[in-house]
Parts: sequence; structure tokens; C-alpha cells
Amino acid sequence: MLPIGNIPALEEFVKIVKMPVSCINRNIFADIEVNDLLENIRLLMYYIRRRNKKKYMPHASVKTIRDLIYWEYAKLIAGSAVGDRKNYGFVMHTYKKLKDEHIKPSQILRENKMFVESDNVCAYCDSLENLEWEHIIPKKKIDLDTIDNMVKACKKCNLEKSGRDPFEWYKKEKQYEVPRIVLGKYLKLIYGLHEKRGTLDSTDLNNDGKLDIYDLGVIGDI
Ligand SMILES: [Zn+2]
Repeated sequence: MLPIGNIPALEEFVKIVKMPVSCINRNIFADIEVNDLLENIRLLMYYIRRRNKKKYMPHASVKTIRDLIYWEYAKLIAGSAVGDRKNYGFVMHTYKKLKDEHIKPSQILRENKMFVESDNVCAYCDSLENLEWEHIIPKKKIDLDTIDNMVKACKKCNLEKSGRDPFEWYKKEKQYEVPRIVLGKYLKLIYGLHEKRGTLDSTDLNNDGKLDIYDLGVIGDI
């Protein structure tokens, strides 16, 4: 039997499973019953799915809106510092540091400086044409015309994003693709809005039974 607790061994096994039939040395399976084999494949898929899911989930200690904003900030910083927002070790280390030191997002990044340096390109797709001002948090949610809430965007992106905030537009699957300048500004803004509203310690603002990126945009009437 395969050592089911051993992920590298299981991955090696899946490589064999994915091989074209003609490449497999049939002797490998000579002593394994077909049912055992299927059971092992099922277990293997379960472990790989569970491990991949874990990779994209906030750490278990992320329990409040405040924690989640720090978590998202840590990912953003990982993207700049080590070129990978998914570097779990770096994200975890940065998250703890931000949280332990009670660092306010406004102290972390100078998004407006970046904005000045890159104001003639669409913040979402790098297009140089048909640029207009875009509200990161849409007017539908809050009437905030300050520079903190604006980026340049091309007409196409502006129309497509429409009345959604960045996470609502990119959704969970593409959350790592939200441009750095947009995400930095967004996190800074929503931290301030939740602080004003007294919801930084909330655990589920959209009442769907869990805390995730979609709770961040629930800012209601300020
Ligand atoms: Zn664009």
C-alpha cells in the first residue's frame, strides 16, 4: 500500500497515474488490487485539494475585519518584497508583525505617491487610451470623491467594473490579480471606513456565516 500520510510520495504516485498508459511499467501495479488503487487515488485527490485550499485561505487566527485587512496587506507586501503574494511563510510573518505592532495601513504604503507616478495608464489593464477617473469603492456604495478613492482607468475597465468594488469584480479566483495600487488604496480606505463605523472587530458583516474578502466591502452608511 502507498504511504497515504506522505504527500510527496502521493504526488509521485499521481505523476504515474497521469502518465499515458503506454508509458506505465505495468509491473508497478502488479501487486495492487484495483480497488486499493482507486481508493488511493481518491485519498490522493483529497489531500491535494485540501492542501491547495489551505494555500489560499487566511490563517486560522484571522478572525475579524481588522485581521483580514492586515492579512490582505501582508499579501500585498509579500508581492512587493519577494515577488509572490502567495508566499505563505512571508505572508504569515508580515501579518503577525503588522498585527502585533498595531500598524495602521496608512503608515504602510504610500499609494498616492505611486498614483502620481503612474497616472497616465489604466490601473487595471495598462491601457493608455480612453482614460478616465474610476472610483475604487463605487459611488453606489459611498460618495467618496477624494484622491484616495480614485485611479485612472480605461473606459472599457471602468464600464466592466461598474458598481463593484475590486474584490467583487475580480472574485476569489482572481483575487491575487487585483493590481497593487488598487488593492493598496482599497485596503487603506476600507480600514478607515470600518474604523469610523466601529466594525473592525466584526467577524461576518454580510451574514453568510464566514469571514472573507466580500465582508470587507460591507461598509453601509457612514
Ligand atoms: Zn483598462
